[in-house]
Amino acid sequence: MKFSQTDANALMEITSRPELMFVRGSGSWLEDNNGKRYLDFIQGWAVNCLGHCPAPVVKAVNEQAAKLINPSPAFYNQPSIELATRLAGASCFDRIFFANSGAEANEGAIKLARKWGQINRKGAYKIITFDHSFHGRTLATMSASGKPGWDKIFAPQVDGFPKADLNDLDSVRALIDDQTVAVMLEPVQGEGGVIPATAEFLRELRRLTQERGLLLIVDEVQTGMGRTGKLFAYEHAGIEPDIMTLGKGIGAGVPLAALCAREAVSCFKHGDQGGTYNGNPLMTAVGVAVFDTLTAPGFMESVNARADQLSRGLNELSAKWGMKGERGQGLLRALIMDRDDGTAIVDAAREALPEGMLLNSPRPNLLRFMPALNVSADEVAQMLQRLDAVIKQLRG
Ligand SMILES: *Cc1c(COP(=O)(O)O)cnc(C)c1O
Repeated sequence: MKFSQTDANALMEITSRPELMFVRGSGSWLEDNNGKRYLDFIQGWAVNCLGHCPAPVVKAVNEQAAKLINPSPAFYNQPSIELATRLAGASCFDRIFFANSGAEANEGAIKLARKWGQINRKGAYKIITFDHSFHGRTLATMSASGKPGWDKIFAPQVDGFPKADLNDLDSVRALIDDQTVAVMLEPVQGEGGVIPATAEFLRELRRLTQERGLLLIVDEVQTGMGRTGKLFAYEHAGIEPDIMTLGKGIGAGVPLAALCAREAVSCFKHGDQGGTYNGNPLMTAVGVAVFDTLTAPGFMESVNARADQLSRGLNELSAKWGMKGERGQGLLRALIMDRDDGTAIVDAAREALPEGMLLNSPRPNLLRFMPALNVSADEVAQMLQRLDAVIKQLRG
């Protein structure tokens, strides 16, 4: 199959893309229009938690599509009830609202917190978020995000998102005032460069928010659904947040996200929240299949075994090439390099012959790894070996 950049001119240009087109995928492998194969350690930005075209997802889509696609969110459907029941049963949350993207789930979390503030805190609406955080690309979630420069691109911002420093409780305390209603954070900052909030910080934050009558919101769009080696990352700290958002892995590649809240916080009145596709049975049936796969006996043990293998391998590479170590939680990890050759490594890995490899460099001196959670030991070993070869090729 032929492809050139001009073929794609009808698509709105929103990013620079390599001159190739993917036509099929299976597990940790993708194939492009020339039949070249790629070992994929991006997986749609941590989205495809079971790899490309996993059997349980294909089966759920096919069976549900033939049965019922969307009766409208004004009526109940069975897959959405089943998935909500599973998520509530596996977490500290009682009520689930399904959305179509992480940003939309976070918008819902922001609205829910503001509503709760109107009812319980005299209209308090400010939500403290963090420098270098990422919460999505809608106006409110861009305003909530701490990405450098994002305060200006679409000015004016949505008001009410003061920024604190991650792992610095005093910086949070200093921002709390009468108008504050919540604190919102990613348990591991993903786009920011795989920076974990420490368990101690999360526990102190929970204590502080409880003392001051504030909600704690965890954005687990990237860290949830097994990515960090537990079903939800907040479990590592032994805390119970008030609101959690899920996205990415929850749909294993299809558009599905969730807003999860404790009963006491679930204060939407009829008409406050909704949307045409929300909780449709086609996507939630996939969610049920994904949930059951992730929670099957032995699955999370193998995630943790692969995470240990990846962590060890990255440390060895770091030592060999004089880099600055690795960090992360579960299968969300980063290699911290001693120089800014992230983009060069990503390009060389993709262009390698006869097979390429997909990596991500969210910062110039950082590589981020987000493989499928069911990646095999052999595929992790292959990735490490290929990465070593690419570094050798570039650094001589
Ligand atoms: C990806 C991501 C989002 C946005 O999710 P979309 O589905 O792209 O809207 C929000 N928060 C975090 C932590 C993310 O990683």
